[in-house]
Amino acid sequence: MDRNLSLITPTGRLTLGNHLGALRRFVAAQDAAYSPDDCFFGLSDLHALTTPQDPAELRDTIREMATLFLAAGLDPSRVTLFRQSLVPAHRELAYLLECTTYTGELNRMIQFKEKGRGVPSTRASLYTYPALMAADILLYRPARVPVGEDQRQHVELTRDLAIRFNHTYGTVFVVPEVTLPRAGARVMDLQEPSTKMSKSAASDAGVIRLLDPPDVVRRKVARAVTDSDVGPSAVRSSRSEKPGVSNLLDILSACGGSTDGIKTYGALKSAVTEAVVATLSPLQKAYAELADDPAYVDSVFADGSVRCREVTASVLAAATAAMGL
Ligand code: AMP
Repeated sequence: MDRNLSLITPTGRLTLGNHLGALRRFVAAQDAAYSPDDCFFGLSDLHALTTPQDPAELRDTIREMATLFLAAGLDPSRVTLFRQSLVPAHRELAYLLECTTYTGELNRMIQFKEKGRGVPSTRASLYTYPALMAADILLYRPARVPVGEDQRQHVELTRDLAIRFNHTYGTVFVVPEVTLPRAGARVMDLQEPSTKMSKSAASDAGVIRLLDPPDVVRRKVARAVTDSDVGPSAVRSSRSEKPGVSNLLDILSACGGSTDGIKTYGALKSAVTEAVVATLSPLQKAYAELADDPAYVDSVFADGSVRCREVTASVLAAATAAMGL
């Protein structure tokens, strides 16, 4: 099978969107894997530092996210779980790639333009972050990188850098194809259904966190934006005309609930609450058990990171030597 590689940045606490759009897919990939070298799932904790973070909070977020990876059903005997910062090859290759990246290319990155350009206190690492992301990918030699719209430009740059490097210094990197991710649940913010439910949203009101207890889920769903439609066909899906209602319907079916017989927004919200609570409850139970043994969680990610060091060593060594060092 194609090697699966995916990283989540530990900024903000994981949401229902992360579960349906990422963790659940990771578990599906695990089910199709033959060996732990088929799937690498990591925490991109170095990327977290491109914006200011309180160290103690970052440490907690990393620990919580690592625990949630396991609570969601990822099994370290079948997939490799790691932390980017524990695999020095990521930052070592990132520097070599920075030496092949043009400032003109970095200036064109939409995320940098939107998030940091022109602001004097923007961290230099936010500017060079695409080189680190290219290293994250190229070290593992995936044939394909499925990527959503927001990261597409960075993966295109990764390809350009790999092609340029191979051309200049001799073939070292596999040039990955950029593919679209399988269409799947895109969970929208319950208060602003035109924007993605995001772990770093300014307001928590429209964001369901994986560790939200049932009463918090109920309250957030009860307050979800719908519309003033009361007709017999009020409960129907239309992303353009009824974004809030469509989002609730999508969440309901992604969480295994049935939309049959639901005629009112009140009934829809009750069904969504029930389905979300049922989806989160096994995960929260597993989390509670794992959280009692943080040393185990740490050891899983430390062991996986050792495996990553072994897998990536030859790529880093080849790139270093090719450049004349
Ligand atoms: P992010 O939280 O944006 O760093 O994304 C981490 C992973 O979770 C990526 O694979 C995203 O595609 C997925 N993801 C994040 N938010 C959502 C969402 N609202 N709906 C579906 N997938 C999401």
